[in-house]
Amino acid sequence: MKSKTKIITIDGPAGAGKTTVSKELSSRLGCVYVDTGSLYRAVAYEVCRCSVNWQDDEELSALLSSLSFDLKLQTGGTPRLFSSGQDITDYIRTPEITKLSSDVSAKTLVRHALLGFQREIARNSDAVFEGRDMGTVVFPDADHKFFLFADLKIRAIRRYSQNNNADILQQSDAGHTQTLAEVEEAISKRDQNDSSREEAPLKPADDAIMIDSTDLAPDEVVDKILSYITAR
Ligand code: C5P
Repeated sequence: MKSKTKIITIDGPAGAGKTTVSKELSSRLGCVYVDTGSLYRAVAYEVCRCSVNWQDDEELSALLSSLSFDLKLQTGGTPRLFSSGQDITDYIRTPEITKLSSDVSAKTLVRHALLGFQREIARNSDAVFEGRDMGTVVFPDADHKFFLFADLKIRAIRRYSQNNNADILQQSDAGHTQTLAEVEEAISKRDQNDSSREEAPLKPADDAIMIDSTDLAPDEVVDKILSYITAR
């Protein structure tokens, strides 16, 4: 039996390349990839589906205690996310859910509800955890911590082209396709929201290695990360 699992954390703002890099890293290391943003998205999805007033702590708390999530983790791939047995993976990436996930993630009740779930995953598997507070709050003792960042314009272009390569990402509920300027504005507002909240704000852990991905291809970022990991 293994005495301790290896945990690698990748935090950073939207569009910095965390997802592509984390998947590839998990694939090269042969461990699972955990997309913690999908859990906040799932809460937002359920808030919408159940028409819950998330600003009312009683209503929010009742919803949270009724939720049952399951992440089917993979090495190098997007985990499928189930809520009460239903696969909701394809419904949590619309612009509306994206914005609402940032709003609900500022609620202490939501963060506390998801904390144990994330730590439980780490008990049994070596993993690359991607998020905003992995290195600061969820896994302060992680084996390796990285913080990816990049210029806002570059992040917006990346997200815009991802959206155009995947129908599900570009459709708002109103059927409107986000322009590049709208993507940039949405990313910038979300970063501002995520960095300024009181509970577990988006910020690098003191001991995280900072990587600027502005001029780097995903493979180059992965190589850099692996070189830090093997050097230790
Ligand atoms: O990573 P992703 O963009 O899917 O995350 C969606 C939202 O979930 C983020 O904007 C952030 O507000 C929230 N989140 C968080 N903490 C995490 C992961 C995501 O607050 N560890």
